[in-house]
Amino acid sequence: NFRCRSAFKLLEIDDKFRLLQPGYSVVDCGAAPGAWSQVAVQRVNSAGTSRHGRFQSHGFKTQYNQTFLSNPYMHIYLIFKNGLPRGTVIGIDLLNIPPLDGAHFLSSHDVTHTATHAKLQELLPQGQAHVILSDMAPNASGFRDMDHERLITMCLSLIDLAEMILLPRGSLLCKYWDGVLSHQLQEKLSSVFHSVRSIKPDASRKDSAERYFLARMYKKPVK
Ligand code: SAM
Repeated sequence: NFRCRSAFKLLEIDDKFRLLQPGYSVVDCGAAPGAWSQVAVQRVNSAGTSRHGRFQSHGFKTQYNQTFLSNPYMHIYLIFKNGLPRGTVIGIDLLNIPPLDGAHFLSSHDVTHTATHAKLQELLPQGQAHVILSDMAPNASGFRDMDHERLITMCLSLIDLAEMILLPRGSLLCKYWDGVLSHQLQEKLSSVFHSVRSIKPDASRKDSAERYFLARMYKKPVK
């Protein structure tokens, strides 16, 4: 039972691209009412309740605990003995997000504020995340270009957030409304991620300008 139909967009994207793995740390930006966080909690096993099924279907290709990739039997043995690794999910929204087992929510927080970035660093294990999700959207004004620009600006702020918390080779999935500045955002993302693609999930209404950028393999800038 998901809190909102938007869950199906993330499920669809994750089924295809396998962003969320058991043990991963995830930041969910614009998380209210919490449906994407529900999906993330299941897939990174942050409540400690996920089964082994999906994980095993990944075979040895899973990115979980790279250390054991050289010895797949050790890998399987550890999962058998300890269960799946537990991940972390932190959701942020300007609005209130009702509590959810396995997630830590920062309600009444603005993702674009640096104070929020600092709080995230404190809450994440080692201050770092494997994945940043953003389904954020401003309240639509009805002026398409203006809404497009505002959402692009919000997406750009996620690149600053990535610089603070995203692990090297991490991923960023962000919603945008298509328009003249989409290309600029794509270029900015391409300068810090090895792979960037634009996605229109089947679960997204065909007549809406909504799309997602999936940016993978983060190239952490060297300070
Ligand atoms: N993914 C959510 C789910 O599955 O339940 C739905 C997200 S909803 C489409 C977009 C959310 O973005 C709204 O709840 C809105 O309050 C939030 N939002 C917009 N601007 C924000 C900002 N600057 N900081 C945090 N949240 C923001």
